[in-house]
Amino acid sequence: MSESVKVFMGGTFDPIHNGHLRTALEIQQWLGVKQVTLMPSKTPVHRKSPERSGQQRLDMVRLAVADEQALVADEREVISADDSYTVLTLESFRRELGLQIPICMILGMDAYLSLPQWDRWLELLTLCHIVVVKRPGWIYEPCEQMQRISDEHETDDLDIVLQKPAGHVIFRELTPLGISATQIRELIRDGRSPRYLLPDAVWDYIKQNRLYNFEQLNEGK
Ligand code: ATP
Repeated sequence: MSESVKVFMGGTFDPIHNGHLRTALEIQQWLGVKQVTLMPSKTPVHRKSPERSGQQRLDMVRLAVADEQALVADEREVISADDSYTVLTLESFRRELGLQIPICMILGMDAYLSLPQWDRWLELLTLCHIVVVKRPGWIYEPCEQMQRISDEHETDDLDIVLQKPAGHVIFRELTPLGISATQIRELIRDGRSPRYLLPDAVWDYIKQNRLYNFEQLNEGK
């Protein structure tokens, strides 16, 4: 089991759900690494209120991974004074790990296809590999720029990914779970239970803190 490969998955995790958790665990097992890091971002500027703070989203990630040694929460983006930019996070990993350790960033298909909108996105593959996971509802329809990235960087050789520090894109099909945080927020707002889409500990936290306009469940609906 490799301890010298860094694997992480960023997101808003608003809230974290079983689609995130199962993805992270299956990738951890496939890569044979000790742990996958889950890293909530700061509250994105484009999100509307009511906003769950970075601290609340981090709390939920911590609750979700509390009993799973293979998954760990990272607070660095939430506690940072700066806005969250993946390229800056990767640079901070590189300062800690040096230039030789492979770093793998897990992205769902939707996030991968949106890369051209990310800050300094062309630098990302100089800092890490990208593991792209298929997500129900998202078809691989790359724009011209992303097609070029896939053509130049895609590999299906896991050994290359585990030996080189950065620079490859590898696609991986996992247990398909069509869960999204949007769906969970909508269920709660609608007075319906999101139970079994996310860990019970996270659902309890949402109820206790009355997040996502939680009032009370409308069991009759
Ligand atoms: P929202 O519905 O609020 O947009 P989300 O469910 O997509 O949220 P994010 O926190 O935005 O969750 O996602 C973080 C990362 O997890 C992204 O790379 C995203 O593609 C991936 N991801 C989210 N849900 C799934 C899922 N069900 N299966 C695989 N990957 C997922």
